[in-house]
Amino acid sequence: FTGKNGSELLTEQIRKYKVHEFQQVPIAVKESVSVYDAISTMFLEDVGTLFVVDENSCLTGVLSRKDLLRASIGQKDLSSVPVHIIMTRMPNITVCRREDLLIDAAYKLITKQIDGLPVVKDTDAGLEIVGRITKTTMTRLLVELTTDEQI
Ligand code: ADP
Repeated sequence: FTGKNGSELLTEQIRKYKVHEFQQVPIAVKESVSVYDAISTMFLEDVGTLFVVDENSCLTGVLSRKDLLRASIGQKDLSSVPVHIIMTRMPNITVCRREDLLIDAAYKLITKQIDGLPVVKDTDAGLEIVGRITKTTMTRLLVELTTDEQI
């Protein structure tokens, strides 16, 4: 008997979770893709954040819903504006890695006030995107912890 109460055990358990156990599939577009096509991709893939990659498939930017909305206001021809003009770009992208603690990724989401993080792998060419962690990832975990059910 450890003498730990339920909430201490739960905290201990949450602190052990790694990013790779919960990461979801990332959706990325190329820098040359138009704002119009990025909006279509966001709907088709049902994600709120798109990652942007260069010709080597390395991370160069992030597109949120509001980035695309902002770019759309007063702009008639969305097919003629490439996303690299409007994206948030490296080195200002907050990332996490597979072996990071999930709680550290959650802390980044809150302190940076963003909806998602790319999970990246370091390569010679740059950062390869291998997954994503979002606020939905964290909400799902909360539900699973209380229902013992995979959703
Ligand atoms: P929304 O714009 O829909 O509120 P976010 O809160 O995720 O969505 O995005 C807010 C701003 O932060 C956007 O300009 C977006 O490009 C940027 N952003 C989103 N994710 C990241 C990230 N991982 N690193 C840096 N900036 C990000």
